[in-house]
Amino acid sequence: MTLIVQKYGGSSVADTEKIGNVARRVAESARGSRLVVVVSAMGKTTDGLVNLAHQIAPSPDPREMDMLLATGEQVTIALLAMALHGLGHKARSFTGPQVGMRTDRAHTKARIKAITAERVRRALEAGEIAVVAGFQGLSDEDEITTLGRGGSDLTAVALAAALAADVCEIYTDVDGVYTADPNIVPDARKLGRVSYDEMLEMASLGAKVLQSRSVEFAKKYGVPVHVRSTFKSDPGTLVTMEDPHMESVLVTGVTHDRGQAKVSILRVPDRPGIAAQVFGGVAERGIVVDMIVQNISRDGYTDISFTLPRTDRDRAVAVLSEVARRIGAEGVAHDDRIAKVSIVGVGMRSHSGVAARMFQTLSREGINIQMISTSEIAVSCVIEDKYTELAVRALHDAFELGAERAATSR
Ligand code: ADP
Ligand code: ASP
Ligand code: MG
Repeated sequence: MTLIVQKYGGSSVADTEKIGNVARRVAESARGSRLVVVVSAMGKTTDGLVNLAHQIAPSPDPREMDMLLATGEQVTIALLAMALHGLGHKARSFTGPQVGMRTDRAHTKARIKAITAERVRRALEAGEIAVVAGFQGLSDEDEITTLGRGGSDLTAVALAAALAADVCEIYTDVDGVYTADPNIVPDARKLGRVSYDEMLEMASLGAKVLQSRSVEFAKKYGVPVHVRSTFKSDPGTLVTMEDPHMESVLVTGVTHDRGQAKVSILRVPDRPGIAAQVFGGVAERGIVVDMIVQNISRDGYTDISFTLPRTDRDRAVAVLSEVARRIGAEGVAHDDRIAKVSIVGVGMRSHSGVAARMFQTLSREGINIQMISTSEIAVSCVIEDKYTELAVRALHDAFELGAERAATSR
């Protein structure tokens, strides 16, 4: 009998009626397979909990934050198990700690170290549907941790790997992975298959349909991931190994990320060892820096700018103000009104001129590029936030990704 791990995101379980629908869908799948179901917190519950914490404390203690955030998913597992009982199914809910989801100690962005899944195995052997809380785990000090926003995707993929499931199905409010966020680009096209590498790049560059760490995990353990709609039965997008049947296009998708901030250290003395001090201070606090730009030095001084997750901005500015004083820089500035737009595609490996076309497209729309970075299969530009939609649509057109175009040319 096949073993399937299904994950239902927040919008799929936003109210009791929707939980009832999910229960019916799960019950249908349970006919021919053994099932593990991972769920998120209901609707925007996690955002609400984050807000509550910030009303109490400007920078809440990370341990207590995880204690708070983990409650969201626990509500959904119990309600879904009850709904399944109502349909005559045997089902049992489990928290992350109960299924042996062991993580490191990095509160609010913990990494998975091991999964025993013993309780899940026992439930499956007893013919039960196992309903597991996404997003949460337990550190080796027995503290509750969470896996970063969107982390239920990771719970699902990790359980699928641990149990050697046949597939991990991610049910969400769109029916697959599109060439761009379909909520921004009406003409976006659903991809039938996408490689782990492309999906990883798209997810890390802002396509939040899958959490990037879940894709990393899926690639590492070869878990086939099927992204599909909770509300429709159409097949979605298969995230899998690169294969010759995938379309050989230059650019696969356009992504955007509005969750970043730009931080600059101004008038830094231009001498060896300075960058090491600046980034060493940030790295020691576990803050991941993304794009970095250092200007040409004019009179022995230079500016260094970089981007980072907006949620880490205050901590980074605090550390850097200290570093700036120590190294004799003028000060630290930050800007939240930025967005990163990117084009992604394995086809770029063997083609030149892709970046140039991206820059021309943005220039034609009168959009100034503040920072640029490239990888083997992506090019990203930081622009002013208010141009995000315009930029994404223009790039989607320029690389001919739209559904209309595809119908005639592919
Ligand atoms: P869930 O609550 O189910 O985890 P998310 O909100 O995390 O769902 O992810 C689904 C959303 O991802 C979609 O509503 C869509 O707006 C967004 N998204 C961004 N980029 C893409 C893309 N390339 N393809 C599909 N969806 C995308
Ligand atoms: N509830 C968590 C979040 O909103 C985890 C998830 O939904 O994947 O980030
Ligand atoms: Mg999500």
